[in-house]
Amino acid sequence: MSHHDVLVVGAGVAGLTAAVRLAQSGARVRVLAKGVGATHLGGGTIDVLGYAPERVDRPGEALAAFAAAHPAHPYARVGAQRVEAALEWFKAVVAGSPLAPYAYTGSLDENHLLPTAIGVPKPSALVPITMAGGDLRTVTEVLAVGFRGLKEYHPALLADGLRRTMPSVTARAIELHLPVEGRAEFNALALARAFDQRDFRRTVIAELTSQVHFGEVVAFPAALGIAAPHEVWSDLEQGLGRPVFEVPTLPPSVPGMRVFAIMREALRRAGGRVLLNNVVVGADHEGSRVRALRVRVGLREERHSADWVVLTHNKALLAALAPHAAKREADEKPSVLWTDAHSSLFEILRHPPPARTAASH
Ligand SMILES: Cc1cc2nc3c(=O)[nH]c(=O)nc-3n(C[C@H](O)[C@H](O)[C@H](O)COP(=O)(O)OP(=O)(O)OC[C@H]3O[C@@H](n4cnc5c(N)ncnc54)[C@H](O)[C@@H]3O)c2cc1C
Repeated sequence: MSHHDVLVVGAGVAGLTAAVRLAQSGARVRVLAKGVGATHLGGGTIDVLGYAPERVDRPGEALAAFAAAHPAHPYARVGAQRVEAALEWFKAVVAGSPLAPYAYTGSLDENHLLPTAIGVPKPSALVPITMAGGDLRTVTEVLAVGFRGLKEYHPALLADGLRRTMPSVTARAIELHLPVEGRAEFNALALARAFDQRDFRRTVIAELTSQVHFGEVVAFPAALGIAAPHEVWSDLEQGLGRPVFEVPTLPPSVPGMRVFAIMREALRRAGGRVLLNNVVVGADHEGSRVRALRVRVGLREERHSADWVVLTHNKALLAALAPHAAKREADEKPSVLWTDAHSSLFEILRHPPPARTAASH
């Protein structure tokens, strides 16, 4: 049976964030997860406060009123300053990753306003720099580029949606017919792998050069590379001589997969590991404390012990595993913390992990 300072259950943004922060502060950490989380489904932006309930332009300013109206919300519990600090931490993790100079941009000062795949504006605090050029607060002319065969991505729908929702924007669509993995139909990940190839980028630029109008910004599906997104994006901007931006697609989310890869690598560098296909099915207790988790790996059952457990996936399982965790505030030595995507970014700051001294390693 392995032993760690902390077992984190779940490999979504919550679990990975908690794990990286804990490992960076000196704890020996392992992440156990059934599979990947919503990173692979979502748009890849970090949305802090987009609606409250009207659209929010300045989330930093709106947070105070929001927290006052929702005192139990994690934002109210940790405060705007720690939210800001967490965003800066996330940006630093991305900027220090092997995908750099790929980076995230933004803050609580202002929400970006980026189009979804159907051309609806959506407010986000932090966005990949490969998306930032699509900010509808400044963009006036959009050329939406699609690829015949890319599942569930229709540039005409994007352009039409933009014209309807943003009267100040003119938009038109174009679809390229290029082979991707030799298939008639392909998803965003396959397209991203194609974009990682320089020859494919050259072909795209050659096809588009004569068709891009002066003044247009060029919208691509968010599939501009999985291994080298910054290089792909820069090549397209230089080759086309126009600003280029990514628009989130339906799953799989390539920007979300980049986040997963970045966080997993940050954890590896800090000495931790992610184990996928590890389904937590129960726990061994000693008094009120969880001493070990029972984990199903294929047909086998394994046990992992730890001083602390961070659950990120499911409150029902928390109740089953650790009925005493609900009394956490009163418990001087909790063994289980529950966290979700919001609080994991922020709450770990409030409840410092059991940092180990050098002597105890
Ligand atoms: C379609 C979609 C689009 C979104 N778009 C955005 C967006 O653009 N911007 C934004 O800020 N937010 C977005 N969100 C919300 C955001 O993705 C979620 O709030 C966040 O990813 C949730 O992260 P999480 O770590 O709490 O949970 P999850 O990502 O759901 O992770 C749960 C983890 O727990 C694991 N797990 C579950 N049961 C077990 C078990 N028994 N044993 C072991 N592991 C287990 C899962 O395998 C997974 O790894 C979107 C969500 C969805 C679904």
